[in-house]
Amino acid sequence: GSAVSLENVRKTYQLGEPVHALDGVSLEIERGSYTAIMGPSGSGKSTLMNLVGCLDTPTEGTVVVDGQDVGSLGGRERTRLRGTTVGFVFQTFNLMPRLTALENVALPQLFQGIDRDEQRQRARELLERVGLADRADHLPNELSGGQRQRVALARALVNDPAIVLADEPSGNLDTETEADVLDLFAEFHEGGTTMVVVTHERHVAERAERIVHLLDGRIERIESLEEEASGR
Ligand code: ADP
Ligand code: ADP
Repeated sequence: GSAVSLENVRKTYQLGEPVHALDGVSLEIERGSYTAIMGPSGSGKSTLMNLVGCLDTPTEGTVVVDGQDVGSLGGRERTRLRGTTVGFVFQTFNLMPRLTALENVALPQLFQGIDRDEQRQRARELLERVGLADRADHLPNELSGGQRQRVALARALVNDPAIVLADEPSGNLDTETEADVLDLFAEFHEGGTTMVVVTHERHVAERAERIVHLLDGRIERIESLEEEASGR
């Protein structure tokens, strides 16, 4: 089934002249798939991410995330849906500077109604999976860029979301560190996580199974990168 389904989505911004940031976009993101989104500045990438991430609602058409019609939900309901079904990874990491790595990873569980020990245990497991068990008590500014992004990835995964959305996740990383982070994305994808990555970088996009190319608010083409012999 689909983790995310967009049907004839239009998003219009009305600042004087109306701008169709998205103009008739239909897209299925299957559970367990790995999708990259590329396109020039202004092509609608951020707008698409905001819709898939339940941060915004479409002007026309439907966006269904994890079985819920996002357009029919109020702001508070979208916030709740977002907290449990979407994990975000940002170019700038967006970690809380005064919280340790472990506390940052634990944070999205705050409103999940699980007790504190269980939250910390789960956060510790995720830190282990991204190879940072020994950095649990460090503050973000005591970590390298790659380590911060691994903390951010652990945080994105802590509520076992239906989908992980990463916006230029390696934009602030050097080549070697980028490769480590992208290897982790691949590892979690292998484990069944649905990954969506927005990127300007062709080599980053090529780690996905397919690339959705946006142009002027429309899907220009979808490029499949799956090898026929891969057996997936
Ligand atoms: P990106 O770096 O991903 O291309 P942009 O710099 O185009 O993103 O946009 C960053 C954010 O600013 C977006 O989330 C978008 O909602 C907002 N934004 C972009 N263009 C405009 C605009 N013309 N007016 C108001 N907000 C905008
Ligand atoms: P990208 O992320 O690919 O750069 P965006 O989704 O940010 O593209 O923007 C797509 C189009 O929508 C652009 O023309 C942008 O200026 C416009 N836009 C985006 N967000 C806003 C906004 N909040 N208000 C007005 N126009 C916006």
